[in-house]
Parts: sequence; structure tokens; C-alpha cells
Amino acid sequence: MQSLRIASVLLFCTGFAIAQSNYIPSAVVSSSDHQANAAPVAPKALHSFDLSALDRTVDPCTDFYQFACGNWRKANPIPGDQTRWGRFNELMERNRYLLYEDLQKASTAPKTDLQRQYGNFYAACMDTDTINRLGDKPVQPVLERINGLSDKKQLGALLAHLQAEDGVGGFLRFGIEQDEKDSSKQIASTSQGGLTLPDRDYYIENDPRMEKIRAQYHDYVVQIFKMIGDSEEKANAEAKSVIDIETALAKGSMPRVEMRDPENVYHIMKVTELDTLSPDFDWQGYIGGLRSRPFDTLNVATPEYFKVMNQTISSSNLDSIKSYLRFHAVNGVATWLSSDFADAHFNFFEKTLQGQAEQTARWKRCTSLTDNAMGEAVGQDWVKENFPPSAKDSMEKLVAALKTALGQDIQALPWMGEDTKKQAEAKLDAFRQKIGYPENWRDYSKLEVKRDDLVGNLRRSDAFDWDWEMNHLGKPVDEKEWGMTPPTVNAYYDSNMNDINFPAGILQPPFFDNTKDAAVNFGAIGVVIGHEMTHGFDDQGSKFDAQGNLKDWWTPNDKKEFEARTDCEVKEYGNFEPVPGQKLNGKLTLGENTADNGGIHIAYQALMNTLAAEHENPEDKIDGFTSPQRFFIAFAQVWCENTTDQAARVRAKVDPHSPGRFRTNGVVQNFDEFGKAFGCHKGQPMMPDNACRVW
Ligand SMILES: [Zn+2]
Repeated sequence: MQSLRIASVLLFCTGFAIAQSNYIPSAVVSSSDHQANAAPVAPKALHSFDLSALDRTVDPCTDFYQFACGNWRKANPIPGDQTRWGRFNELMERNRYLLYEDLQKASTAPKTDLQRQYGNFYAACMDTDTINRLGDKPVQPVLERINGLSDKKQLGALLAHLQAEDGVGGFLRFGIEQDEKDSSKQIASTSQGGLTLPDRDYYIENDPRMEKIRAQYHDYVVQIFKMIGDSEEKANAEAKSVIDIETALAKGSMPRVEMRDPENVYHIMKVTELDTLSPDFDWQGYIGGLRSRPFDTLNVATPEYFKVMNQTISSSNLDSIKSYLRFHAVNGVATWLSSDFADAHFNFFEKTLQGQAEQTARWKRCTSLTDNAMGEAVGQDWVKENFPPSAKDSMEKLVAALKTALGQDIQALPWMGEDTKKQAEAKLDAFRQKIGYPENWRDYSKLEVKRDDLVGNLRRSDAFDWDWEMNHLGKPVDEKEWGMTPPTVNAYYDSNMNDINFPAGILQPPFFDNTKDAAVNFGAIGVVIGHEMTHGFDDQGSKFDAQGNLKDWWTPNDKKEFEARTDCEVKEYGNFEPVPGQKLNGKLTLGENTADNGGIHIAYQALMNTLAAEHENPEDKIDGFTSPQRFFIAFAQVWCENTTDQAARVRAKVDPHSPGRFRTNGVVQNFDEFGKAFGCHKGQPMMPDNACRVW
């Protein structure tokens, strides 16, 4: 439910699920308006390399993104139920629709026990009559448990119960992760948590925009308390308590950029040392309630935070703490309670914060929720229908071509010495890959699903996931486990596993298209593969060795050279401005930008190797474009998108990925082969004199 592991993903999709809070999945929201009840419509077929997307009035050497995507962006305004709309969103919607068809069938005429189980999960989510009739009843037992807190000394045990059995977060996070310095071990880990807004900055920054958001957040918290029956006066006092506690926790939280350095969040301690950090918190009661096997040591990711948490708890009165927990309990499931709660949640989190105009249709929300809760159940049928074995074979070949190219790239690096190169090659040799879906599916047979109890299903599913995660403690690492469900449009690199992972969901157009030429596939999915591989060597990944251990394998001089080059990217991207007055954070986005830049180099090299092996001339044209030109256009067109201003601002704060425009232009302007392919001159915007190059 709340894995603490570092994994680098291709896309950051779900609102702010990685906010520093215990956030119940809520890419999706509930409502009763017309959009919410809209009937499902089959999405159109998608293609890689779309000539109609090009804006040929723009010079590719001036603004390549606009050249490659201009007409697509004009023809594809943001639908009312989205905050960002790109070509990968088209694919996400398509995958979701195909999954919906499976769920619809399973909920009416299941053929297996597994189908009956996930069909019931989906049906319970779609049963708005029951949901609206129940109002806030489904959350009442949890609120009563919180109300029963009569002494702060019981807080540890209560928090453990809320997290392990009720799916309610607060104050801190806990999970099982690989030991960063001995990746063969799975250990307990605890970290800061307990916020609701997307980032600590939202509580702290003194600019008018943030102040306005805080005022709107305050109104939302008041509204939630009134909806569970509290008077206006009481609700106002409770909202103040919630925001006071969250603000104190935010001030004590490590900033997002500092969290990116794995050394900053690695502190192995004895369990007894926790009492020194937070003497007023009953750690024994907390740990005793986690339903895990006993442990003596753990990773305390953010020790300073736990001192602040202690102060916050000891200086808050019991009622304030209860208000804070009651709000978290309701807010966490508001989306899935009756429509008044769901609408309130939507209005603040999606509409106000991110500029989403309309509620997302319920069938879409329930499809995503079911995928989220039982992804390796619903995925089993989905991949049979939507992931042909030939796609896996083609991917294996592409990955092999990219590995060869990365090996050549490392060999040819002018700034790296031989000793470090040997280590880098050893790391590359040790890369493993997973493609499509798990070899062994998770067993859901012990998860109880009821057809008329959505919130109960969510609670049981959270507890089921919690126990599953706790069960990893002290066990050997299972290299076959996945961190994403099969229909997901995304990919990831895991630094402790040293593996790259591509769910079936992304292995379709516009990323991957068996009917298209090599240039198109290397430009799209090839760059994605290169991106994930380069994560093994970005500012985070480069700190882990071939075995996935946090261990320095660089000579001091090569490290200096590396950092000089990554600093160049920090400055380059830090000057990009997605919305007026809001620049990107070059340090927050460094890992992803490095992966994008390295990825395109090695994908391009792999394409050249492939064309040479097949005796094809790169200058031969298809549709009027040479192979290099098609490669770059296919690359750029993965990132065609429109985003609301509000969502762009949230993303600039929390998303380690740059927006599509800069993922495209930021990369091609660093790569001479692009300028050559389009006949650009040095000094033009897409071929500047001060290009950055790491990998
Ligand atoms: Zn990435």
C-alpha cells in the first residue's frame, strides 16, 4: 500500500500520489453530474508517427516540439475530465476501456472464481444507489475507534491499527524495503508522512497563490467536518487543529529534493533508538500493532522529522490529534463515499488544485480502482487479450540492441576513466529486465470482496496489501515481483533490483508499433528503454552498484566530471518555465532529465547499428523523412500534450519529470545528431553552443 522504495518511473501519472502523505489512491473521483454517468465509448485505434500531428509552419530548428506536435495540440484540447491530455493519455484511456470491458463481463457473467471476485469489486464500486444511501456510515467504525482515544500514550497502537487494518494514514509512514546497502535483505523502514497537500511547500511558502490554496484547503476541511455532523463552530476549530498539525509536520519534513539523495534517507537504527528521537510517542505500541514479524533494527529515513513529530504530538492536545486523524480517515475515502463527499473532494483536489473541469465518469474511476486493488487479478485476462507473445519477442530484441548501444556509449565516453568504465560495464551486464506481466501472479484468494460494500472492500484490500508487504520482512528478495500492474502505461528502473521493467500497457502505439519501421520504434519505445537504463546511471542510480547496493564505485575524479555535467542539466532545465512565474526545479528533475538525455543517445546509436546490420541507408525517406528525422519525430510525438495551468504548477513542485515540451526540446538541443538530421545551424535554439551531455 505504501512502499517506501525508490524506483524511477517514466511517467508521473496519478495526481500527487507520491506527495509526502499517506495517500489513498485517488487519481479518480466520484460524482453525480452528467459526465460521471457518461456511457463508455470505445476509443479509436492509435498509431505511432502521426503525420497529421506536425505543424509544418514551424521551423524544427527553432521549436522542434511545436513542429512535431503543433497540430496535435491544436486538435486535442484537454477533455473536461482530465488535467493533462497527451498521446500517452490516449493510450491510458484505451487500456482502461479494454479493462472496463473485462470488468463489465466479470461483474455480470463471471467464468472463474477470480473473475467473480474482481467482478464483485467493480460492481460494488458501480453501485451508487447503495453508496449514496449509506452516506458516511462506512467510515463511522473508524471514526469511533479514533474517538475512543483517551490518552496520548495509546496513540502508537491506534496509528498502527489505522494503518495496518483500516488503510488510514497519519503522522508517519512504515513499510518493508530492500536494505539500500545490502539489497539481498528486506528490512523495516519508517519515514515522514501525514500531510494532505501535495508538498510541504504548500504549507510553508509565502506567496499569494499558496496562501489562496491554503484558504481553500481550510474551507474544504471545514466542509468535511460539517458533513460528518459537526457544528460550524466545532468544524472551524477542528480544521484549525488539522492545519496546525500538518503545518508543523510540513516544517519538520525533509524537502523533496533532499529526499532524492539516497544517503540522506538511510539511517539504520536500533528500534530502541526511536525512543530517543520521539520519547513521547509509544513506539512499542506502534510496532506491536503492525502485524509484522519482530525486528530489532530498521531504516529511519528521516530522523530529524521524528523529533518534530514528537514535539507536535506533545504540544497538541488530545482533541486536536483526534481531529487530525478523523479528517485523514474521512478524506482518505471521501472519493468513495456518497456523492456529497465525493463532490467536495473533487472540487478541492481536482478542480481547484489542478484545474479539472468535470468529474471523471464513474466506470473509468471504478475500473482504475479495481486495477489498483487487484491489478494482478484483472491483468491475467487482460494480457491474454491484449499482449501477443510476438510483442514480447520484439521487445527482447530492442532491449538487447539498447544494451549493446549503452555498452558502446560507456566505452566511448571522453570524460570517464578506465576504472570507472569497468564498474559501469559490470553494472550494465548485471541489468535484468521484465517485460509485459509477472511470471507468477499474486494470490488474492484470501481477500474478501463483497458486492455491496465498496469502502469495506477498500479497507480489506488495504489490509491485505499491508500484510502482503509485511510478509516480506526478513525474507529473500523475489526478483519476479512487479511494481506496476499489466495495463499500466509506464515503465520503471529499480535501483536495488538493478532491473528495468516494461508493463504490457506501454507496449502499444504510440510507443511500440510492429507495423512501423525501425526508426519509429527506436525513437519511441527505444528511447523509453534507454531512459530506464540510464536511470541506472543518473544522479541517484549512479550511487548503486551492480548488485543494487548503495556503494560508491566511482574514482573521485570521474565523480567530479560526472557532477560538472549533471550541473549543466540542472541549470538548463532550471531555466525552463512551463507557466508564467513558475520555473522547473532543475534539481528535482535532474534524474529524469539525465535519463531522457542518455536514453536518446543510446536509442539513436542502437538504430544506427540496426540499420547498418540490415544494410539500410539512413538517408532513404519514408513519408518524406529520413530515418534520423523519423526517429526524432516519433520520439517527440510520445510527448505531445496539453496541460491546465493549475496542473502544470502542481507538477513543477512535485513531479520529477519535466513537461513534454521540455522533455523534447531540452533533449534535442543537447544532441548534435538532431541538428544534423534537420539541417540546423549552430546558434539556432535547437542547436545552441552550450549543450549539456552526461551519458
Ligand atoms: Zn524515469
